[in-house]
Amino acid sequence: MSTSAVLESTQVAEPPVIARTLGAELVAAAERLEGAHPADVLSWAFSRFGGRIAIATGFGAEGMALIDIAARVLVRPRVFFIDTGFLFEETYELRRRIEDRYGIEIEAVDPAMTPESQADAFGDRLWSIDPDLCCRIRKTDPLRDRLSDLDAWVTAIRRDQTRFRATARAVEWDLRWGLVKVNPLASWTRTEIWSHILENKVPYNPLHDKGFPSIGCTHCTRAVAEGEDERAGRWAGRTKTECGLHG
Ligand code: SF4
Repeated sequence: MSTSAVLESTQVAEPPVIARTLGAELVAAAERLEGAHPADVLSWAFSRFGGRIAIATGFGAEGMALIDIAARVLVRPRVFFIDTGFLFEETYELRRRIEDRYGIEIEAVDPAMTPESQADAFGDRLWSIDPDLCCRIRKTDPLRDRLSDLDAWVTAIRRDQTRFRATARAVEWDLRWGLVKVNPLASWTRTEIWSHILENKVPYNPLHDKGFPSIGCTHCTRAVAEGEDERAGRWAGRTKTECGLHG
């Protein structure tokens, strides 16, 4: 595989200098780590990027499996989440349970606007009028600011979740945000995630047992019916399937 093959996997313009510098190394790492156990991917990433890498979590099942594996590789890995201010109470409670279990502090990254100031500026229900703008204010802008202080971030995405995620590699250059993106669970299936959670008694969001396979903000998440796509409960009734964090 050539350097350009990795860069093309996330397409777009001329990559920045740092991407070109890292290109050959990322290609080699991506090839070597394709299909590797997530612990091996994390072990490489943590030793390569030291204090300049952090795990982003949305507290989904994948994220909980990822933190559990990361905590076996590195004592107290850095973890952060984007606190939109609209998360389920069960999600905030899960944060506390994860912090207790692994002895870590999960950093909350806040949007510049509070829910109240957003309502003053754009009305009470921006998420139903313009969810892209709402996601930009409450998710992608805060993420961009947080990532600007890192050389690499770790995500819990799986290739089989959406078509946008289908080309994700274990290690790749993130053209959108301008840093290395590590996806240790890229090749895992939903079944493998849940096997890991149940076998290791990893804490997870109780909403998963109530028909919520994917959990985001309260305003934009509903339970799904049997046979529906696992992300059908996110922005239901709209074509939107991603909040912009991963493409
Ligand atoms: S998921 Fe919904 S409520 Fe949350 S930031 Fe996006 S549009 Fe707003």
